Amino acid sequence: MNRTFEPRPGLLGIESYQAGESGLAGRDAVLKLSSNENPYGPSQKAVDAYRASASTLGRYPDSHHAELREAIAEVYGLAPGNLICGAGSDEVIALVCQAYAGNGDEIIYTEHGFLMYPILARAVGAEPVQVRERNRRTDSESILAACSPRTRIVLIANPNNPTGTMISAGEARNLADRLPGGVLLVLDGAYAEYAEGYDGGAKLVESCANVVMTRTFSKIYGLAALRVGYGYGPGNLIAAMNRIREPFNVSAPSLAAAEAAVRDVEYTKRCRDLNTRWRRWLADRLGRCGVPSDPSSANFILARFADPDTVSRCDAFLRARGILVRRMEKYNLPSCLRISVGDESGCRAVGDAIEEFMAGEK
Ligand SMILES: *Cc1c(COP(=O)(O)O)cnc(C)c1O
Repeated sequence: MNRTFEPRPGLLGIESYQAGESGLAGRDAVLKLSSNENPYGPSQKAVDAYRASASTLGRYPDSHHAELREAIAEVYGLAPGNLICGAGSDEVIALVCQAYAGNGDEIIYTEHGFLMYPILARAVGAEPVQVRERNRRTDSESILAACSPRTRIVLIANPNNPTGTMISAGEARNLADRLPGGVLLVLDGAYAEYAEGYDGGAKLVESCANVVMTRTFSKIYGLAALRVGYGYGPGNLIAAMNRIREPFNVSAPSLAAAEAAVRDVEYTKRCRDLNTRWRRWLADRLGRCGVPSDPSSANFILARFADPDTVSRCDAFLRARGILVRRMEKYNLPSCLRISVGDESGCRAVGDAIEEFMAGEK
């Protein structure tokens, strides 16, 4: 009897996702600017709600996430019945892939797109198809040109990670309108709250049958540890995703904290304003010492260096000072470092260090 087990074909070819590093050997305190987390953490109201949920840990959570969906709907003016919650927006994107793609299908993502996308595509047996960007920006024309009869889904983050650039609401609408029938557009809005005046694609969802928006509590809401995200889409799509969703996919403490966080609109605004201010400061500072970056609409900047060797030296220089940023080889950007926007002291520390590094390069 043969008792060696092989996973599904193709599965062992998937490269595991690498998270941003969180520590350095031999150092207690590091400045972590490698995972785009909120440097101010969550709203105190979210922490209080999380603590209060400790009294009901013996009960299963609400499998319909009714109160959280109601809160999101109120704050953003959305229809609660068209919302679905997941263990991070990663789970919501995975549900879209599971419901709408499978063996032999194709899922399009972009040259510098989020590395979870090819993993989520392969996990359902679909082929991830990578298309070119234009100057580190999503290019609708290359997406449309790559569509084949096997294409089922287009996954783009807007603003994109790791470039920080975005396409306008008009461009997104144009792309949605021109996609062939049967192709879904997923707009991953993990950083949408940082983009002043942007609705993450909510209006587009409401007027197109082929668009789904995803959002997360991991970034501006500062709740990355709790794993909560949501999707907003046409009713029939959300219903299909709910059929395969696990009933208790989001824990009760996570639901409670997320609800309090989304309702604390003052705090969210304060985080957005501080991010805008310090993102501009950091980009200016690096620009002045010869490290340019594209205008970012997110909570990080993509710093461009002369070549991959300079990036290696700069990364080592920062590490020696206890500063962690993200290398970008896997995103086809070997001459770049992605730097999360920290609080004032974090931005000053990384700005000073890179200026010192660049002075030594001359
Ligand atoms: C951080 C991030 C997410 C969020 O993932 P969660 O599972 O919600 O923590 C989604 N998409 C992109 C592009 C991201 O950078």
